[in-house]
Amino acid sequence: MTRLSGKVAVITGAASGIGLAATKLFVEEGASVLALDVGAEALQAALADVGTRVTPFVVDVTDEAQMRQAMAKAAETYGGIDIAIPNAGIFGVQAPILNAAIDNFDRVMRVNVTGVLITIKCAASHIIERGGGCIVITSSVGAIIGNPEAVAYTASKHALTGIMKVAARELAPHNIRVNTVNPGLVDTPMMRIVEKEVGLGDPMKGREMLQKATFLHRFVRPEEVAELMVFLASDAAINCTGGMYMIDGGMQYGGGAE
Ligand code: NAD
Repeated sequence: MTRLSGKVAVITGAASGIGLAATKLFVEEGASVLALDVGAEALQAALADVGTRVTPFVVDVTDEAQMRQAMAKAAETYGGIDIAIPNAGIFGVQAPILNAAIDNFDRVMRVNVTGVLITIKCAASHIIERGGGCIVITSSVGAIIGNPEAVAYTASKHALTGIMKVAARELAPHNIRVNTVNPGLVDTPMMRIVEKEVGLGDPMKGREMLQKATFLHRFVRPEEVAELMVFLASDAAINCTGGMYMIDGGMQYGGGAE
């Protein structure tokens, strides 16, 4: 079954983790993908075996001029844009508020919030030209819970809920649906940083502690988040807009059962 046959998608943060899994699944489901990432070498290496319906493009999501150029490239290469997946994000440095470094806060907000706004702004005019489409933002369970020692990341993901709600309302007359996916703990390179921090230098201990924070005692796989993105981008989700779609193993309700 090809649920995205003939569609053109732009995916940011495509060289790793969730963005890479989404790129692979979107291509498998029939879409053509402009895969954006700031890491040139990682992007080339990651996409080496993804096939011909994917075009890598090196770009920093915080740079509006570069992003405008990237969207023009997608439209030129594939004839337009139907789907945008603003997914690129960083975790930043963990610290309690009393020791929070303001430059870390600014950097996380710049990539995770301003980068998403720029992606939506630059993609939306192309999606409007196609007569409509959809936007699926990668947010987090951090959009609804307060993660200790992660004030920048938590604030950035809360902010994405606001962006999603405004965009869903403003873009609905253009037939564009806008939603967030809100993963919990996903087994990606980003998680390696968190495990080490939580385990106070012992990643295995950190991993165990983190998994216990979910009902199901397991990490989410990036491919499972990609599945949810495909559903939201497909015609099966025709009535889904303005929604937050949790994929967190119950983490939003606090620790899992022992
Ligand atoms: P990852 O580190 O594996 O991948 C993120 C990618 O984004 C990298 O390839 C990186 O180069 C790229 N990127 C970073 N800054 C960029 C920039 N300025 N411009 C362009 N590309 C940039 O991380 P991931 O776990 O796959 O995270 C993807 C998204 O999922 C992020 O928004 C993250 O906040 C969110 N998320 C992750 C988890 C998790 O547990 N891993 C949980 C919830 C939400």
